[in-house]
Formats: sequence, structure tokens, C-alpha cells
Amino acid sequence: MKVNKMPATLTFDDMKTQVADGTVDTVLVCFVDMQGRLMGKRFHGANFVETSFEETHCCNYLLATDLEMATPEGYASTSWETGYGDYVMKPDLTTLRPVPWLEGTVMVLCDVLDHHTHEPVPHSPRAILKKQIKRLEALGFEAKMATELEFFLFEKTLDEIRKGGFRDLAPISSYNEDYHIFQTTKEEGVMRPIRNHLYAAGLPIENSKGEAEAGQEELNIRYSPALECADYHSIAKHAIKEIAWQNGHAATFLPKWHKDRVGSSSHVHQSLWKDGEAAFFDKSGKHGMSKVMEHYMAGLIHYSPEYTYFLAPYVNSYKRFSKGTFAPTKTVWSVDNRTAGFRLCGEGTKGVRVECRIGGSDLNPYLAQAVMLAAGIKGIEDAMELAPATTGDVYEDAKAMDIPQTLRDATQTLRGSKFLREVLGDDVVDHYTRAAEWEQEEFDRVVTDWEIARGFERA
Ligand code: ADP
Repeated sequence: MKVNKMPATLTFDDMKTQVADGTVDTVLVCFVDMQGRLMGKRFHGANFVETSFEETHCCNYLLATDLEMATPEGYASTSWETGYGDYVMKPDLTTLRPVPWLEGTVMVLCDVLDHHTHEPVPHSPRAILKKQIKRLEALGFEAKMATELEFFLFEKTLDEIRKGGFRDLAPISSYNEDYHIFQTTKEEGVMRPIRNHLYAAGLPIENSKGEAEAGQEELNIRYSPALECADYHSIAKHAIKEIAWQNGHAATFLPKWHKDRVGSSSHVHQSLWKDGEAAFFDKSGKHGMSKVMEHYMAGLIHYSPEYTYFLAPYVNSYKRFSKGTFAPTKTVWSVDNRTAGFRLCGEGTKGVRVECRIGGSDLNPYLAQAVMLAAGIKGIEDAMELAPATTGDVYEDAKAMDIPQTLRDATQTLRGSKFLREVLGDDVVDHYTRAAEWEQEEFDRVVTDWEIARGFERA
């Protein structure tokens, strides 16, 4: 299968011309934080092309904060004691692209570097993924990935919803719209600009489709080298929220917004390539799988309980894993079976690949891809044996191993993972373990509506 590489959307020289003739006046200079959000500054085009394209700076608390921008204690890299210094944001000019949904605006993604040494900051998501890509290259392989983006659209705007206390939430539609053309036509006011603007920004958009719940949509982007895939995912997620907002609606990537509604996932399709050929394909292998693919999948499956945190980083992420909802709970693989944690797709063809179905819509694509690559590499290095595929309803398979069922459990497996410490480094594992602990501590401090309603009168 030939993969068409998207042409560079905007060269720096073209951008300079556009700044000079006034077509562009604003540059979003961004990096991706621990939560997968774009953080950064809006530069005037003239300043960017003159000096700031070299580098700019940001406070180092940005890679040690939670969703609320709180500054929890307990991070070795950043603290009040060390005075919260700066990081260097180094624009990666190969990521320069227009932002067609904002007037006169372009965007560039940055690598985050140490202020003094100019070395990559080890716990920066982009650096974590780049490190695993390099390890894979040393083995002679390139990874190609695709991350699906599922999300819900709501009738009202984010501001209205927040002012209403996040109650009485009404999705944009009232019925299951899986593959539904009429219902998704009604959502074209939001979805068409999402597809077209992202395509014009240089993202190889494949399609959008209605998903299996009222108000649920999915966006698919063509598979690409791992780093580009993660960049695309972050930009697309950001754009979906902004374009929905521009059109008077809310988009949410919260994996489970209602106990009775299906959750949102981010399935990750993965394949390895060598010298432009599909390294996962061997037409004489079982299901067309090469030995390399079998070893990769064995590692991927074996280590999944240890890296689940990176696929499900919040308390809410674990509410998605319920039986009979297509959200998997078991660390097994299956051929084209949506109830298993890992699904073989493209059986017997050059497009043979593995899809990890565990991740929620809230995953950080850099971290998720990095840990899965690391697990696959380990499988290849140790020539791990792949167990036979499971069949039938995997939810009922008592022998299959479970992934951690709560954030607390996933934090424990993360903290104790020798494998992750070896491949990511102790500093990185400790950093993200602290993020996970903090999330749990914050939740544990809260008295929920459910507890009050259940026990107020009857306890
Ligand atoms: P389905 O509809 O069954 O989910 P698709 O054919 O739409 O499957 O593919 C899902 C995703 O897999 C797409 O984003 C596609 O680009 C990606 N994909 C296709 N081939 C490969 C491959 N060899 N490696 C990684 N991802 C792939």
C-alpha cells in the first residue's frame, strides 16, 4: 500500500511572503502539554519571522499542571522551591500550517527544551514519542499510526453548559446516529467546516461519521508516521472544539458524560514498515501476519496493564470500560472482533494492522503511541510468542486478563512497571505517576452528588 505523504503545507519562505503582503498576521506558537492540549502564545507574524521562529519561552509549570492549571506539589522537575523557571519552546518549522478557521492565522508546533542545556525536556509528550521512534528506527522500522477521534456534540455552547452547572446536557441529536446519513446531515453545519478546514491545514482527513450514540461523531485521519499522527490528532482535537464553539455548539472529549450513554474512544491503528514495505505482512503467515507483527502484538498485549494509565489518564476514563458497550476490558486479541482490547484489521492484506481499542477520547496521542511502540519493540526484542486469537464474546472470557479497572489500579501498575522505567526512564515514570496520584487525590476530596442523593435520608 502506497502512503501519500502530504506535501508541506506552508514553507517558512511562503509564510514570510504572506506576512509581508498582509495575508498572515498571527502565528499560534504551541506545544502539547501532558493532557494533550495546545498551549502557547499568539505572535504577531512580523515578530515571528524576524526573531521568534528561533525560539520562545514558557513557564515550566505548564508540564506539571492539571486540567485546572493547579500546581501540585511532588514533581521533581518543577516546584515552588526551584522557583518555576522557563522552558524553551523551539518551533518545528516542518509543522507550520495555516489555521483556516481563524482569520490571518497560521500555527507551528514546538519541541520543549531545557532552558540551560537546550536538551529535550524528558517528560514532554513530543520528546517521549520521539525517543521511542528513534529506538524503532535503530531496529530498522518506521511506525505508521492512525488515531480515531470520537466525541459528542451538544446543542448549547460550552459557556452556556458551564453556567448551567453541566446539568440537563442535551446532545445535538436524540438518537443513535451510527453511520446515519440523515442525522449527520443535520450536523454538517459543524462537521463540514471541521473536515474542510483541517484538510486545508494539511491534515489527510479521510471522513467523519455518526457514532453509536445520540450526538456522537467520529473523525478519521489517514494513517501516517507516528509523530505526524500525534500532531494531527492534537491539532484536530483542538480544531473540533474551536469550530464547534464558533458554530454555537459544544464538543466534548470527556470519555463518559452520562452513565447510560456509550463512551467516546480513541482507537489506535498501528503498523510497522521497513524500506517502504509493510513489515507486518507475510502472505504465508497466519492471517497474513509476519513474525515481526506477532512479536509486536505479543509485547503490546503483555504490557498493556502496565501502560493503561496512558490510555486512560483520569478517574472518568475508567467509567467507559463497561460490558456490552464496545469498550474493551480484556487484554486479548481477536480477528475483526470489536469486543477485544486488540483487534486485527486488514487480515491477509498489506494493510494488516493492529487496532488498540482500550484508549479513551481523553488520551494524549504522543504518550499513548510512545508506550505502545515501546511495548511492541520489547515484544520484537524478546521475540515474544503471541497467544492464539480469542473468539466470541470476549467480555465473557473468564481466562482473559483484565486491564486495570480504576485510575487507582492503573497508577499502581504504572508506578511499579519495571518495563516502563527501563524504556521511558525513572524520571518520566515518576512524573506521570505523580500526575495520576494528584488526579485521584483531587477526586477523593470531593463529595459527589451521587453519595448525597444515596445517603442523605437513608443512611
Ligand atoms: P474501520 O472502518 O474498520 O475502522 P478503516 O479502513 O476506516 O477501518 O481504517 C481505520 C483507520 O486505520 C484509518 O484511519 C486508516 O487510515 C487506518 N489504517 C489503514 N491502514 C493502516 C495501516 N496499514 N497502518 C495503520 N493504520 C492504518
